[in-house]
Amino acid sequence: ATPVAMLASIGAAAKRGLLIKGGKYLEVLARADVLLLDKTGTVTVGRPQITDIVAIGSLTSSEVLQLAASAERYSEHPLAEAVRAKATEEKIILLSTEQFEAIPGQGIRARVSGRALVVGNARLIPSGLDLVESTQLEAQGKTLLFIEQDGELVGLLGASDTVRPEVPEALAEVKRQGVKRIELLTGDNERVASALAHQLGIGYQANLLPEDKIRLVKEYQTKGHTVVMVGDGVNDAPALAQADVGMAMGVAGTDVAMDAAHMALMRNDWRLVPEAFAIAHRTMRVVK
Ligand code: ADP
Ligand code: MG
Repeated sequence: ATPVAMLASIGAAAKRGLLIKGGKYLEVLARADVLLLDKTGTVTVGRPQITDIVAIGSLTSSEVLQLAASAERYSEHPLAEAVRAKATEEKIILLSTEQFEAIPGQGIRARVSGRALVVGNARLIPSGLDLVESTQLEAQGKTLLFIEQDGELVGLLGASDTVRPEVPEALAEVKRQGVKRIELLTGDNERVASALAHQLGIGYQANLLPEDKIRLVKEYQTKGHTVVMVGDGVNDAPALAQADVGMAMGVAGTDVAMDAAHMALMRNDWRLVPEAFAIAHRTMRVVK
């Protein structure tokens, strides 16, 4: 049976906008020592902006943007939204899109006006890294999206996102709550990850696929750690479920992440993360 103090805490947390799916998660959270964070939409606002458009070969930058936005038409990824927003801003009309396929942690494939389009990172389009522009944009900490048409590299987009303002202080508070190791897990490139991790004073692992994130959670668990994972996306759901406590960015995230998680932030406020730890510690002091 769940002790009364736990039920009271769950009720109080719910009023604060923190959904806890059972008393046992308070007990687990109180002894957690590792915190793993998804990047896009979790540590960052999740509304990246397209900052650079590079056209290669005979295409113009408008054509590159048109192809990329058309190919990304059916993607729910924040980067896809950024590409479509940029196209709208530039008053670009989208072309017809068929056979859309999302490749988690990498990008998308689709047929646009009968041509085979691929939009994604270097894992999906390795030849993109040969461009001078790639090196330049990566040095600026930009997320790169390469565009391939019928097997040929035709362009490159640079994107940047901003850190959620409450994150630095919230992470400092989590450390004060006894969490020994905080790590950023991202499918984004090394430069973006290291710049962000450095800024926040945490560790990082870059170029990860969704399955790598689950594997890393398991590795920590095998070594005897109690792992909390915070994420927002469909891609994060398996890692959230695997973690000892999975926390979903409820309002700002996806329903899939919320279903898989053990706790959810029902207000778009990162301070609820350290608050969850504080509630857990307080509750366990009473229960013991
Ligand atoms: P994160 O781990 O930062 O939350 P994801 O796992 O969602 O990011 O995506 C990892 C990387 O895969 C992105 O940084 C991007 O390079 C690429 N990617 C994913 N989805 C798309 C898409 N729809 N279009 C282009 N690139 C994508
Ligand atoms: Mg995310």
